[in-house]
Amino acid sequence: MRLFRKISVFVLCCVLLCGAFEDLPAGAAVSNDVPVTQFTEGIRTGNTVTLKWEAATGCDGYQIRISTDKKFKAFKNRPIKYGDKLFTTITGVTEGGKLYYKIRAYRFGDDGKKIYSKWSAKLCIAGFDSSYEFASNSKINSGYATIYYAAGDRKKKKTVCVNAGHGTKGGTSVSTLCHPDGTAKVTGGTTSAGSTYATAVSGGTSLNDGSSEASVNLKLALALKDELLKNGYNVLMIRQNDDVQLDNVARTIMANNLSDCHIALHYDSTSTDKGAFYISVPDVSSYRKMYPVSEHYKEHDELGKALVNGMKSAGVKIYGSGYMGIDLTQTSYSTVPSVDLEVGDKASDHSAAAHAKIAEGIVKGLDEFFK
Ligand SMILES: [Zn+2]
Repeated sequence: MRLFRKISVFVLCCVLLCGAFEDLPAGAAVSNDVPVTQFTEGIRTGNTVTLKWEAATGCDGYQIRISTDKKFKAFKNRPIKYGDKLFTTITGVTEGGKLYYKIRAYRFGDDGKKIYSKWSAKLCIAGFDSSYEFASNSKINSGYATIYYAAGDRKKKKTVCVNAGHGTKGGTSVSTLCHPDGTAKVTGGTTSAGSTYATAVSGGTSLNDGSSEASVNLKLALALKDELLKNGYNVLMIRQNDDVQLDNVARTIMANNLSDCHIALHYDSTSTDKGAFYISVPDVSSYRKMYPVSEHYKEHDELGKALVNGMKSAGVKIYGSGYMGIDLTQTSYSTVPSVDLEVGDKASDHSAAAHAKIAEGIVKGLDEFFK
């Protein structure tokens, strides 16, 4: 009995000490009464990072923790003094690679000491890594992508790359190899069959109401990001404003290394409101024998079919059988399940309600794909 009590006290001390050493300075208190906040945006451009987060009602301030390690073993803290300030801009960020961020709210207790909320889900801002497979085929890769981690208890532990098509300044004046091995394109498309080089990032079309396709793709990508996070998926956002300096090869390589599947969002250049479809890998044997297409075209097709079925069940109009075979830079370099999704064309409704329906359909499709 006495031994049991000693063991119990020892175990209790260990639990308390581990808790104390985990992430708190001595004496700092954490309470479930302080609401947890989450990041809503994290964007890095050059050496500047901007972070935005949700308001934690009734708090006196926030603390952001920054680390090069996803477990935050070594870190820097950044205090944000005002409870009503919901963004910060960090300049002079010189580290390359990946940087991780998390945030918590605090308020002052009666004794004047800070009482913290639990930490938010983490966020990772990642640069292009020149050691990635096919990295030397990318010509524009100084941009950064952001991984948003799902919060709460619905986590699926899958990261979906959401790639808002187009939106790279200078992308039309640079060329990249269509195929990693330098062979020629086997079908037409934006770039004609027989070409070995394609525009690094084309400008995209304009929709019938005058909006640029790039801006509409972005609006949909942001809506899809929120829907995915709500449903427990982590999201790798390739582009979050009107310009990311990542060409189509770089975007694909980032998706290969940082996500479990890659969905590029586009509107097609027809004007018939023909419905949504995915670009499948064309049935050309030389192309299907080329690495990495050879090892992955079946999973691209499975993903595309699942997404089209999901969108159909959410009430999105589907074009024909839901696919069209085109030799794309994206699928020529993809080593994770990957599709270009043409969610509509120049005449399609691209209101917030239409985007909500598409996002719901994509999530349904992913649930089926990852089942
Ligand atoms: Zn497009």
